[in-house]
Amino acid sequence: MSNNIFDFIKYYNLDIKKRYGQNFLIDNNIIRKIIDAVDVKNDDVIIEIGPGLGALTQFLFDAKKVIAIEIDNDLVKVLRERFAMRKNFELINADVLKLDLSELLRPFSNIKIVSNLPYYISSAVLTKCLELKNLDSMTVMLQKEVGQRIFAKPSTKSYGSLSILSQYYSDLNIITNVSANCFVPKPNVESVVIKFIMKNIDKYEDEKFLFELVRKSFSKRRKTLVNCLENFYGISKQKITDVLIQNDMDKNIRAEALTLKDFLNLADCIKKN
Ligand code: SAM
Repeated sequence: MSNNIFDFIKYYNLDIKKRYGQNFLIDNNIIRKIIDAVDVKNDDVIIEIGPGLGALTQFLFDAKKVIAIEIDNDLVKVLRERFAMRKNFELINADVLKLDLSELLRPFSNIKIVSNLPYYISSAVLTKCLELKNLDSMTVMLQKEVGQRIFAKPSTKSYGSLSILSQYYSDLNIITNVSANCFVPKPNVESVVIKFIMKNIDKYEDEKFLFELVRKSFSKRRKTLVNCLENFYGISKQKITDVLIQNDMDKNIRAEALTLKDFLNLADCIKKN
């Protein structure tokens, strides 16, 4: 059997399932750039989300272990046959959003995630993976618009909780832009590959609280921060207003004007009050 995606589709009589965001990578140059960015080492454990027909998977086996998570039963059958001889391959037939990834990764170190993410769940998967404790890096293909949200700075249209979460947990590198022609079928959007290198920093002591605060602050973009945070952990509007004034902020400020540092201050002040 060749490595050609079209041959696999024909041989296994596969339907391409739009509902699973199936756009298979066919461009060898882009595949090579992604694999180079992952930088697979012998003692790595590589997690691939949505391996599809194995366009990226085939180049990951220098790692100690490759764990691939694929929702589509039909593709799982193909992958089981295609990589049957690989002793360091584990395939999990599941919805990544329903998996307890922390539990799955608990025994391992040197963990790297790679994915040509299904676009319909890219933000949800990113949010879930960024919060993992023992991750080294994450190299992912995303639609350009999500890429812009990840890199966005305060007071811009794309800035939001995904920007804050990404910039808090990782150093970000753009690996390459990817044209729609590099996939079968062609998606309606252009893509970008981003590498998230997880920061080795002292994390904020109550991250759960911090990111609930960030999400709640951006929950209604047109409303002021005070209105978004009304009843957050039972705190009154007046208390939030007082905290903003203590921090020299306008009481009518909106979340998009706040930097990560502002949110960290705000979280501290709210907790103290
Ligand atoms: N990695 C392959 C490639 O680059 O050619 C396929 C990428 S395709 C954009 C996305 C893959 O994710 C598909 O194989 C799809 O079936 C799988 N997928 C979609 N939703 C998923 C989910 N919730 N959990 C796990 N895999 C999923």
